[in-house]
Amino acid sequence: MLTWFPTPYPGELFYSVLCRYYMSSGIREHNIVKRQLFGSKAGVKMATLYPNAAIYAVLSQLPERVFDGEGLILRHTPFLYYTRMYQPQEREVLLNDLLQGRGKTPTHLWKTFPRGDYALRYCPLCVEEDARIYGEPYYHVEHQIPLSGVCVRHKCRLKQIAVANPRLTLNNCFYPLGAMETDKKPDMDISPAELRVSELVREYWMLPVSVWPPTHNNLYQVLLNNGYVEIARQTGIIVDKVKLYAALCDYHGTAMVEKVFGSGISTSMANRLKTWEQLLPDRYILIQAMLGVDTKTVFDPEPVPDTLREKMEHMAVQGGFCTLRQVARTLGLKQYEVNAILRHYGMAPFWRAEIPGKSQTARRGLLRCTVDEAELERIRRYSQELGYRCEGAFALDCIRYVMEQGDTPHKD
Ligand SMILES: [Zn+2]
Repeated sequence: MLTWFPTPYPGELFYSVLCRYYMSSGIREHNIVKRQLFGSKAGVKMATLYPNAAIYAVLSQLPERVFDGEGLILRHTPFLYYTRMYQPQEREVLLNDLLQGRGKTPTHLWKTFPRGDYALRYCPLCVEEDARIYGEPYYHVEHQIPLSGVCVRHKCRLKQIAVANPRLTLNNCFYPLGAMETDKKPDMDISPAELRVSELVREYWMLPVSVWPPTHNNLYQVLLNNGYVEIARQTGIIVDKVKLYAALCDYHGTAMVEKVFGSGISTSMANRLKTWEQLLPDRYILIQAMLGVDTKTVFDPEPVPDTLREKMEHMAVQGGFCTLRQVARTLGLKQYEVNAILRHYGMAPFWRAEIPGKSQTARRGLLRCTVDEAELERIRRYSQELGYRCEGAFALDCIRYVMEQGDTPHKD
């Protein structure tokens, strides 16, 4: 039974609390302290980004109700960041597993965790500030999430502690930040994009546990509304993956985008982004930062309007004399694209239909009107712009349109 365990500081990483226990225990052998903390689970990895059975092992060594296990997981590990895109029932299952010591890292996360030289990180100015306020510096959860490179509070670059073979070393040994050699000089040379990404990482981690992605995808809709649209005859409206990838590279730099997305955005990746099946928040955050969308909009239960659909519906309601060619020009699209969109939205055509060919059997009449040449030229140009094959067909369609309106008073 542990007789004493430190109270975590605000936003302190669970591993950091363990390190402070180690310091105050007065014992210098890491394995002895690990046995004290974890009992029979002394071999547990204690510095993983996603929490594991180490939390349960420590809690079960403490007198009951000294610590609230749920609070420890939610506020002192990046659990909520890594499960932010999960639906509530799935997140609940993961949380309960951890609380009962069965915590397994979701497999999709294994692939995305940084390898090799990635170690715990700190902000030089937070080190100074924490030492002043709490008497010692500590590791912050929000600084450890790999996508984030900046301390949001001090707007300076995060630095990494110097340990050899960090993955192995940190999981087996205690490296309290207060006992580490830290760089005192802050690096303030950061880009607005880096800062924005770090702010969003923090928000995704800090949002209440009751926030998860709604069934619609506002981020995807904002992409479409902002012109990242590809219209295909078969698939209807999808995100323009090439344009999106290029815009992300422009905003974040190619190296960052390659790290998070790989060398391009495939159709299946785009589909998984749309349906929230992409469970790591990193890709959503890069897109969100580039679009300048706030986090509230992303998680809003209210869908953002589909501007293209609204435009089409508005044109349909307005009705009046228009042709497919005109509609296409107004929307800045090709005619086949307008047709594809119409099918995508399940709408009926609202423009003038093609004039049917002349009937072979009916007797023909002739309609003639006389205009001056200048006016004829204007009519000719106008009818060409609308897509009529000749000004006569246009004139006839105009007459039919007026007559179709049908509400002309007809009095004897
Ligand atoms: Zn800081």
